[in-house]
Amino acid sequence: MEGSVDILDSCACSGGNLPRFVQPVLLALLAREPMHGYALAQKLEDTGLFGSQTPDLTGCYRMLRDMERNGVLATAPDRGEGPARKRYEVTALGRRCLNRWIASLTSNRDHLDRVLGVLVAAREMCSVTGEQGFAEDCVFMEDVRRRAMAGELPRREDVLRLLSYAPDSPQVAHLGKLARETAREVAGDRAGVWAAVGVDCAPCSMSCAFCAFGASWGVVREAHEWPPEDIVDAARRYSSEGASWIVLRTTEHYGAARLRELAKKVRAVLPASCALVANTGQMSVEEIRRLGESGVEVMYHALRLGEGRDTPFDPDERRKALARIREAGMTLAHLVEPLGPEHGNEEIADVLLTALAAGARVCGVMARSNVPGTPFEGRPSVSEARLAQVAAIIRLCGGANVPHVCVHPPLSQAVAWGSNVVVVETGAIPRDRKEASDEWRGFSMRDAENLLVRHGYKVGGVKT
Ligand code: SF4
Repeated sequence: MEGSVDILDSCACSGGNLPRFVQPVLLALLAREPMHGYALAQKLEDTGLFGSQTPDLTGCYRMLRDMERNGVLATAPDRGEGPARKRYEVTALGRRCLNRWIASLTSNRDHLDRVLGVLVAAREMCSVTGEQGFAEDCVFMEDVRRRAMAGELPRREDVLRLLSYAPDSPQVAHLGKLARETAREVAGDRAGVWAAVGVDCAPCSMSCAFCAFGASWGVVREAHEWPPEDIVDAARRYSSEGASWIVLRTTEHYGAARLRELAKKVRAVLPASCALVANTGQMSVEEIRRLGESGVEVMYHALRLGEGRDTPFDPDERRKALARIREAGMTLAHLVEPLGPEHGNEEIADVLLTALAAGARVCGVMARSNVPGTPFEGRPSVSEARLAQVAAIIRLCGGANVPHVCVHPPLSQAVAWGSNVVVVETGAIPRDRKEASDEWRGFSMRDAENLLVRHGYKVGGVKT
């Protein structure tokens, strides 16, 4: 054990790098008044930078010589009484150097505070859990966050590591805390309500296993549409109650031309603070652009979990559809959905990375509803703890690129961990046996607002 103490003596953790800060301190002392080397060494000792030790005079003179050679200091003969000595003074270049030191140390101070916070929290948690790897995991998560805040996409192995933690582990508790801090920084603690209106439903020949509209399941037996006036009324009501997004959810049967007409009518009653979203089938770049001209600002589209297995869609075609949304200049919303307990880390990571690479500005996670009558009837649902974990991972990995992280259904733990968007919906719902004449599952705008406010968010002002 003694050997390991010796090794730590030469490790950076011993603080051996601190004397590097001697140079700016010398500059600062000399900027106040020029002085000779010996007086300077005494002042240096008074700063307390060396603790109980005396500064090494030889080293100090060597550093002064280097600084003079670099042009940040100049010397002049001391004309006072006593033996001839030279006085050091700061040059114009030295003053610029001092200002740069101040700027650079100030900007690094926040980062150091954060690192220190992580280390102290990790040490406290380690003493509680006895887990040796916890501190390392905390530092890893901080690194993921730092890179995401710099706009970098996460590495696949990083997402997999975050997903590998048990949902009830101290790692995920720490992840949640970091995710909430990220929401504060990225979204300024603003949150919004995503108000979705299911415009139509119809038996759909694609028969995705999780969808109530699948023709093969016989849950929805005939086509039904809500009149445009009802849709406009619902949009007007939601926006007046503070929704940040009004979403028109249509099946492919509705048709692009009719969706454009409906979009114009709805846009006309929305305030500028409210974005209009289309959630519909795949479209060409030209169709997306025309939808944009009709007032739609955001498109919801997603590569689903189980795409190609629980759906007949080709995942590559889905990725091309996402690329067309980007090409058309439309903002993308893409959740990781529909999440069930059987979805493995690799699959979740790949869908999340697809969403982030496609430039989703609204991201998040939606749990699968196991609709009676569909193949998922009676199957288990994803746990709330896992749903909250995935939401926190999305917040952490989305960083500066994803201001809006949604969780559906609304979940308090996920909101506490950085999800700042919750959904209120009405009309045709592909996740239920029957449409919602009022709000789905009774979750109203007021409930949404209360949930967000309870976790410290200000609602509204988040338009994409
Ligand atoms: S998810 Fe869409 S494509 Fe699949 S069955 Fe439902 S409506 Fe059809």
